[in-house]
Amino acid sequence: MISTTVAAVVTRFAPSPTGRLHAGHAYSAIRAHDFAREQGGRFLLRIEDIDPGRSRPEYVAGIVEDLRWLGLNWDGEMVRQSSRLDSYRGALGALGADGLLYPCFCTRADIAQAASAPHGPEGAVYPGTCRALDPAERTMRMEREPHAWRIAIDRAVARTGPLHWHDATAGEIAADPMRFGDVVLARKDAPASYHLAVTVDDAWQRVTDVVRGQDLFEATHIHRLLQALLGLPTPRYHHHPLLVDATGERLAKRRGSESLADLRARGVDPLALADALRRGEATGL
Ligand code: GLU
Repeated sequence: MISTTVAAVVTRFAPSPTGRLHAGHAYSAIRAHDFAREQGGRFLLRIEDIDPGRSRPEYVAGIVEDLRWLGLNWDGEMVRQSSRLDSYRGALGALGADGLLYPCFCTRADIAQAASAPHGPEGAVYPGTCRALDPAERTMRMEREPHAWRIAIDRAVARTGPLHWHDATAGEIAADPMRFGDVVLARKDAPASYHLAVTVDDAWQRVTDVVRGQDLFEATHIHRLLQALLGLPTPRYHHHPLLVDATGERLAKRRGSESLADLRARGVDPLALADALRRGEATGL
């Protein structure tokens, strides 16, 4: 008898604990949760708390409270990226040993001043200032100044050759990471950027299907490149539409969208809310 083993579906919800969750987060969590459950798969919770300036323990507690309120249970232990820093250092070391990284001493102001920089999916493309430093100056400054690590994107792309990834809605996509320029892979204040940490962890947690908002569609070009460079598998991607309010604007803290905690406080029934989100009838929140 011939038997084939198909990897069971694994999805994750990966919020950053930098504020209270709103209905847009709930929608994303439900989509990832239901996708796994419908196929007898696993649903994981990963707290993306590598930003020491913005992450707060009370928001981690809030995420747990909100997911439980919505009736969403995750499998296994919740993972915190702050406990995974050695893994990110390892991946960074491998990319550095391959000659694909360089230290960057620039401040945000330095980059903003180089106003001629073209814009990419994440704003101004880095003008390459620190890439051109002479080796002696670079070594001297590394001893004295805080620095980030950037990827030399053209060198990286030349290394991997053409890459593709699959999105459930958009279909087969040719990866185009060049438009991002030399993105940061390790920050001055953390040994990883979002792009590096998410790529390493999706592989480590054996995530088969990344279900997340359309706002992260573009970032997938970089994640696909990093997967190829690090020898990691590529999950399937499902970028879902973002929830909008009654005026058609995307829900966001800075626009004053009500948090799930606010909805709870005014007596909203969580199961009715989850149902409305599942039916796609939750605009106007
Ligand atoms: N931590 C990211 C966020 O809260 C999401 C990461 C992801 O789903 O890839 O926007």
